[in-house]
Amino acid sequence: MATNRTFTMIKPDAVENNYIGGILKMINEAGFRIVAMKYTKLSAEAAGKFYEIHKERPFYGELVNYMSSGPIVAAILEKENAVADFRTLIGATDPTKADEGTIRKIYAKSIAANAVHGSDSDENAQIEGDFYFSKLERF
Ligand code: UDP
Ligand code: MG
Repeated sequence: MATNRTFTMIKPDAVENNYIGGILKMINEAGFRIVAMKYTKLSAEAAGKFYEIHKERPFYGELVNYMSSGPIVAAILEKENAVADFRTLIGATDPTKADEGTIRKIYAKSIAANAVHGSDSDENAQIEGDFYFSKLERF
């Protein structure tokens, strides 16, 4: 299993606020290489499937609505220690608790609309990347 790749989404709030460029700049400057990328929109059904692991959590319905409310940017990123380093770069789930200089501290609106997704393990990075990208879409 690849330990040098992670998966991210720039979420609907960040896209709507024109933060795509700023967020990608931070990602590149932190040393991540873009392996795959697309600008797309999740149906409610697809968002429900993507976040299936959170099905029992109280915010699941709201999360699915939000993540299917507008376009997103999905990407596979490569760097040594990608999963952990990317979680450090994005900061805590709740932007009020995120460290200074992190993507969520700078760009997130709230705990729900928190600008970016980052995989939490190598296993989930693989599953999440496979959700969006075929082998032919990776470079
Ligand atoms: N979320 C939410 N309310 C919460 C916790 C999480 O709306 O109390 C949303 C938020 O968009 C978060 C996503 O659900 O990014 C997935 O939650 P997780 O705990 O996996 O946080 P993450 O891994 O994104 O930091
Ligand atoms: Mg998570």
